[in-house]
Amino acid sequence: MSESKGRFGIHGGQYIPETLMNAVNELEEVYNHYKNDDQFNSELTSLLDEYAGRPSRLYYASSMTKDLGGAKIYLKREDLNHTGSHKINNVLGQALLAKKMGKTRLIAETGAGQHGVATATAAALLGMECVVFMGKLDTERQALNVYRMKLLGASVVPVTTGTATLKDAVSEAMREWTSRISDTHYCLGSCMGPHPFPTIVRDFQSVISRESRAQILKAEGRLPDYILACCGGGSNAIGSFYHYIEDKDVKLVGCEAAGRGIDTFETAATINTGREGIFHGMKSYFCQDEFGQIAPVYSISAGLDYPGIGPEHAMLHDTGRASYVAVTDDEAVNAFEYLSRIEGIIPAIESAHAVAYAMKLAPALDSDKIIIITISGRGDKDCAAIARYRGEDINE
Ligand SMILES: *Cc1c(COP(=O)(O)O)cnc(C)c1O
Repeated sequence: MSESKGRFGIHGGQYIPETLMNAVNELEEVYNHYKNDDQFNSELTSLLDEYAGRPSRLYYASSMTKDLGGAKIYLKREDLNHTGSHKINNVLGQALLAKKMGKTRLIAETGAGQHGVATATAAALLGMECVVFMGKLDTERQALNVYRMKLLGASVVPVTTGTATLKDAVSEAMREWTSRISDTHYCLGSCMGPHPFPTIVRDFQSVISRESRAQILKAEGRLPDYILACCGGGSNAIGSFYHYIEDKDVKLVGCEAAGRGIDTFETAATINTGREGIFHGMKSYFCQDEFGQIAPVYSISAGLDYPGIGPEHAMLHDTGRASYVAVTDDEAVNAFEYLSRIEGIIPAIESAHAVAYAMKLAPALDSDKIIIITISGRGDKDCAAIARYRGEDINE
């Protein structure tokens, strides 16, 4: 076990069994080679542009800006990507890397099914085998995404251990990888897990801030004052923050899922309620019970329903470079409906957490301030659940 590699302050590292060391070492070596390889980068850029539809738009939300009566609001439209979210940025990068390593099989974990669908999509595109681990409870809650993955040629393995949700799917995917490294790459879905995953996922997602920086400079001739992004494991947020970290005047705000409130046990707000711990191969902040066991977490948003957060966010919190706010189910649902009505854009319920915080922040700021909100995904997948939340039963 390496104590020094892949640290973000005191967080990160490689807390994994000996049997996985070869796999992560191989991945690190190959990644370090290819990240500066022109051929690899031009292949990836071409996939991102031609297949996933990048660059994504930076859209000036004029109606929302006018309605809230404060800072100027821009939306970074990751919802317009193929498969409907930012997940494809990371998946195409890792799938291409796996191909270069000579791997023929991708495995992945998924919660709501978005990362599973993105991985199954990349596997179909690149002619690879794909197996997705998904908590049994989630396979029942997200039957449509299970069907999508199968349609794309993947097999879906229901995980029955623990709470039969996302954290158990991650554990099972890691176990599977340990037993079959030679032909298999574990395509991890967020900026978490053992080194080098948090760095690899961040680099592939940093395309978001590379684009938005150039786009806002072109539109406004200056950098924004705030970047807002929702935080589950933290990949869309770290991708949205990355190219602004050195610009100290740009405030970075991660929006966590408070669920029914951070003063209840039904929450997934890791930084706001969690403590330092070690889980899934990394040191970071985790929601824990009084005995230090990983706590069951809750949010209306299945994509934010993870008891930990990536180690780079833990460090950005420790150093004060980024701040992390908690947004409740109620606030997120209101924002989901608000953005739909005011801009004609139905955001993912995950992204609606960042929209909700903007609705509080913007009116308190002067009109010469600029906020960029990352819309991490589109909300079609959430319509039935939000209708149910409002007491209306619609047929999916
Ligand atoms: C998965 C997902 C998230 C949460 O994951 P991060 O790694 O925190 O980005 C947020 N938004 C959408 C649309 C997702 O699919």
